[in-house]
Amino acid sequence: SKSRGGGTTIRYDKQGHEDIRKRYRLAEELRSAVSRQELTLHFQPIIRADSRKVTKVEALARWFSPEFGEVSPEEFIPLAEEIGIIAELSEYLFHIAASDIQELRELNHGNENRLALSFNISPVNLHSQNFIPVISNILAKTAADMSQLELEITESMLIEDNEMVKQNLTLLKNMGIRLSLDDFGTGYSSLSYLHRFNIDTLKIDRSFIASMQESTHSREIIRAIQAMALSLGMETVAEGVEYEEQDRMLRELEVTHIQGFLHARPMDRTALQVWMKHWNTV
Ligand code: C2E
Ligand code: CA
Ligand code: CA
Ligand code: CA
Repeated sequence: SKSRGGGTTIRYDKQGHEDIRKRYRLAEELRSAVSRQELTLHFQPIIRADSRKVTKVEALARWFSPEFGEVSPEEFIPLAEEIGIIAELSEYLFHIAASDIQELRELNHGNENRLALSFNISPVNLHSQNFIPVISNILAKTAADMSQLELEITESMLIEDNEMVKQNLTLLKNMGIRLSLDDFGTGYSSLSYLHRFNIDTLKIDRSFIASMQESTHSREIIRAIQAMALSLGMETVAEGVEYEEQDRMLRELEVTHIQGFLHARPMDRTALQVWMKHWNTV
C-alpha cells in the first residue's frame, strides 16, 4: 500500500526534521556563545543632517559561530528571546557598549565628548524587573551621563497594555534616559503613545527611504513624520540611507539625522575610532 504521495510526505517530514535539528543546534551554540561571552558589538554612526557631526552611534550585536558562520541578529535575537537568554545577552552587550563608548570618549576628548549611545532593547527586557537596576549599575560604573543613552524600542512595546512595561518606560524617562522609536511608520503607533511615553526620537523606517526616489507617497510620509516630530519636539533619524540623492532629499525634508551605508557601515570600536578621526578632518 504505497501511495504515490507517500514518498513526498516522507521527504517533507525529513526536511522538517532537518530544520528542527538545525534550529536546536543553533540554539545550543547560541547558549554557549552567550555564556562564554563570544558575541560582539559593532557601532554605526548617526550623523546630524545640518552640521554633519556624528552625535551618536547605534550598537548592533554580532555573532560569528564556528559552526554556522556569521549569524544575523535578525535570527539570533528572536532565538535568544525564545530560549530565555535575552536578559543575560542584553546585560552583557550593554556592558561592552558602555565601556566601548567610554573609551571612545576618552580617546577623542573634544568633539566626541558627548558621543551618545543608541542601544536596541527587546520587549523581553522591558518585562523584567531586573532590567533597570542592571542598566543603572552599569551606567554608574562608567560615570555616564544618562542623557547620553538612548534606548531603541519598537512600537509594539508601546501599544502592549502591560503594567511592568509602562512602569519601566516611565522609570527610564525619569532617570533622564532618552527613548527612540525604531522602524517608525511600519507599526501601529498612536500619537497619544508618543506623547504619553515622551518619545525623544523617531527612526523613520528604511523602507520609506529605499523607495523615496521613485515614490511621491514615501516622500509625503517622510514629510508628514518630520512635521509631526517637529511639532511634538522630537528628533528624527532616517535609516538605511545608501545614496547621495536620498541624503540630499532628506536634508531638504529637514530630517534631523542620517544613518546608513552611504556614510558608514556598522564597525568595531577600533574601526569606528579611525573613521571618526577621518570624518572630523574632512
Ligand atoms: P535595526 O535596529 O533596525 O538596525 C538597523 C539595521 O539596518 C542593522 O542591521 C544595520 O546594519 C542595517 N543598516 C544600516 N544602514 C543600512 C543601509 O544603509 N542599508 C541597509 N540595507 N541596511 C542598513 P543588523 O545589524 O543586521 O540588525 C538587524 C536587527 O537586529 C536590528 O534592526 C535590530 O532589530 C536587531 N538587533 C541588532 N542588534 C541588537 C541588539 O543588541 N539587541 C536587540 N534587542 N536587537 C538587536
Ligand atoms: Ca535599531
Ligand atoms: Ca530600524
Ligand atoms: Ca528592524
